[in-house]
Amino acid sequence: MNERISPQARQVLAALSGERCHLTADEILGRVNGIGAATVYRALDRLTELGLVRRLSLGGKSAVYEAARQAHMHLVCVRCGRVCDVPADFSGMAREAARLCGHQVLRSEATAFGVCRECLAKDRDNIQ
Ligand SMILES: [Zn+2]
Ligand SMILES: [Zn+2]
Repeated sequence: MNERISPQARQVLAALSGERCHLTADEILGRVNGIGAATVYRALDRLTELGLVRRLSLGGKSAVYEAARQAHMHLVCVRCGRVCDVPADFSGMAREAARLCGHQVLRSEATAFGVCRECLAKDRDNIQ
């Protein structure tokens, strides 16, 4: 299926397969070699169109991209920005809600904002 995408787009996909897998376009740009910003943006648009990449709004200034994979929700730490993937599928709920008002869902995302375990642990250390 990846034959439809350019070598540049493949590099962008590879950048999204690293340990940190939710990246802004600028972060992706810093992880690819010899590809300009315009090409990275175009590749992201194309990959999103093909459903290989998902574009997310996780509360930061810029949109975040991730390689599409099994349904999951995001837990975002408002202090350090860490994003945690938790397997969960809310798409049925979104479709059901949309059905009630005749809306058609194209994509949905579930995100919860809070404080991550590491930041909570730092709080505890500071108290003791
Ligand atoms: Zn945190
Ligand atoms: Zn994710």
